[in-house]
Amino acid sequence: MLTGSVGKKAKNKPGDVNVVQQIINLRGDLRKKLPKIKEDSKIGPKTQLYIDTIQSHFMKKPDGRIDPFGRTIKKMWPVAYGKPTNRPIRGADKYGSGYHGASRGRRKHDGADYVSRPGQNVKAPLSGVVTKISRPYSSGIDAKILSGVEIIASDGTTCWVWYIKPAAKIVGKVVEAGVSVIGRAKTLKNRYKNGITDHVHVRIHDRNGRKINPAKVIK
Ligand SMILES: [Zn+2]
Repeated sequence: MLTGSVGKKAKNKPGDVNVVQQIINLRGDLRKKLPKIKEDSKIGPKTQLYIDTIQSHFMKKPDGRIDPFGRTIKKMWPVAYGKPTNRPIRGADKYGSGYHGASRGRRKHDGADYVSRPGQNVKAPLSGVVTKISRPYSSGIDAKILSGVEIIASDGTTCWVWYIKPAAKIVGKVVEAGVSVIGRAKTLKNRYKNGITDHVHVRIHDRNGRKINPAKVIK
């Protein structure tokens, strides 16, 4: 969720500073009595004070620096999972089953499909930051209609959520699993005609690219 370090003697790329500032504002419990801060993407004495304060809750000697995949960012925005549609994984229909590893002819289904009602709010399956719009199809009518997002967690776990219309200005936003709305579900019936169960496709892999079965982590 961070692409470089933030704080003292750090890289302080504006996008990363902004992510830290969003988390500071979302975590009133870590800020204690300190008020919210301006999300201006700039490191300054104020943002630095907040980083030191937050670290003092769990470090004897705060170093004032947040490293990607490090202890501080994992404490600030823990890895967590949540249900995207509040509906179960798609059972078998004409096009197969929605479980991770289900057969798709010569290949295997690489995510899990959560049943959706087109138009419903879809929530983040993973806590992290929305890094980009992720597109399931590069051509055809669906390339325009069916879209998705990529979410990266504090430990580098990465999640793609497909077949949604992403919420406005969602890229760059810090999201909480099972709470933050990332978009609205779209129908797949234009692509698959009759017999498909509308769903959102959720694919998760760890920092090293190893696939994770969503059903094992989304409870
Ligand atoms: Zn799928």
